[in-house]
Amino acid sequence: MLECFFVVVFFHPSQAPRLPKAGETIHGHKFFIGFGGKGANQCIQAARLGVKTAMICKVWKGHEVFSQNFVWQTSDAATGAASITVNDAGENAIVIVAGANMRLGEEELQKALTAIRKAKVLVCQLEISSQTSLRALQMAHDNKVRTIFNPAPAIPDLDFGFYRVSDVFCCNESEAELLTGYSVNNVEDAHQAAQELLRRGCTAVIITLGPQGCVVLKAQDKTSTHVPSTAVKAVDTTGAGDSFIGALAFYLAHHPDMPLEEMARRANQVAAVSVQAVGTQTSFPFKRDLPADLF
Ligand code: ADP
Repeated sequence: MLECFFVVVFFHPSQAPRLPKAGETIHGHKFFIGFGGKGANQCIQAARLGVKTAMICKVWKGHEVFSQNFVWQTSDAATGAASITVNDAGENAIVIVAGANMRLGEEELQKALTAIRKAKVLVCQLEISSQTSLRALQMAHDNKVRTIFNPAPAIPDLDFGFYRVSDVFCCNESEAELLTGYSVNNVEDAHQAAQELLRRGCTAVIITLGPQGCVVLKAQDKTSTHVPSTAVKAVDTTGAGDSFIGALAFYLAHHPDMPLEEMARRANQVAAVSVQAVGTQTSFPFKRDLPADLF
């Protein structure tokens, strides 16, 4: 059984020929409202591959809550929302307002502690307050639950405690760049940034590199490995990182002894399917859509 720790927000994507510049208004092709954010996306991807998941998050009290997950409500803030623009090249620009999720704190974590203790994997991001995220990771770490930390949206001066409680510290190029101060534009740069992140105390680092796959570095190894992705025609890369992390959580829970490089190779394949369809959760593949050798 897998129980994960995630947050929820709604997101509002627009498709436009290109991303607008500061102060500019442009015509778009399409607008729609969907579900997110990172935590919910990762949770959905893991669940679609076949593990049991749970969410810990907070929403505005006007929203109906259907699941038996740890979804609390508040009247003090709106449910988190994100505004996303996707250009014709499939690239995106995102502004997120975390709202009610910022009110998730120690009290709610304590109520979820029994579930956290029973989980195989706990996944945290930064769409809740960083103190709450760190506390949840510490709880999991203290109870020998494996942790994936996705430092997104990235913040400068991330508390070093995060590295020490991360079994897998998984970020993309821009997050790696902000956290390390190195420029991360290619595989070679990612190898350097991964070494820097590992020095800060995590057990393993993965830096995702869009169409180039990812770089994996484990504390027990001296050198990192480039794990290439499959070449595909991307139509919308929004949520590719979440598809990758959801898949990684699935493999950690389902095949705990599999080498991390192999988990990353399979997660690349899952995420490569997601970029070939429009939308975020709507583009994430189910087990039935994927080759049997990924399971
Ligand atoms: P994020 O969505 O956080 O920016 P990335 O762009 O690094 O994350 O993508 C995450 C993963 O999705 C990559 O490691 C890769 O496996 C897959 N991916 C993303 N873009 C492509 C692409 N154009 N072709 C194939 N795979 C892709």
